[in-house]
Amino acid sequence: MVPGYLKNNNIIIATIVISIVAIYLFVTRKVKVVGGDTKISSYYGWRKNPFTGDDQFHNGVDISAKSGNVIRSILPGKVEAVGYDGINGHYIKIKHKNNGSFYGHMLKSSGLKKGQLVAKGQKIGLVGSTGASTGPHVHFIVYDQNWQHVNPLETNLFRL
Ligand SMILES: [Zn+2]
Repeated sequence: MVPGYLKNNNIIIATIVISIVAIYLFVTRKVKVVGGDTKISSYYGWRKNPFTGDDQFHNGVDISAKSGNVIRSILPGKVEAVGYDGINGHYIKIKHKNNGSFYGHMLKSSGLKKGQLVAKGQKIGLVGSTGASTGPHVHFIVYDQNWQHVNPLETNLFRL
């Protein structure tokens, strides 16, 4: 027979271990950058520009999804830039600890302001087709700490 006080200790220890594992899994869980069903419609690298037909380096991946689907910040950070231009449409750029990220062609303005803090997984916009875009998608860029773009699919910083 195991004495009662040992049995209770085992339950307490098991509860602590399970809690630590649960917290670890929650904290390290990768953010699904675009909500709902998504598909990569264009990869990082050289391609023909869909508008001009010229060879052009595509500095991010295009994640196509239904218009209005949520876009989330892949990591905690601070809004580096937010705005609109004829190429990227409504966009937001976020500075993280060791990376940066960029989300373009959003349905409308993010509503966030430059310098504002953003939590990991926070909603930062909605999928749209603003700017030079052939259909609803997110032009998604990941930068290293020197603002050099990298292949997002090689970073393991998010989920699709
Ligand atoms: Zn793109």
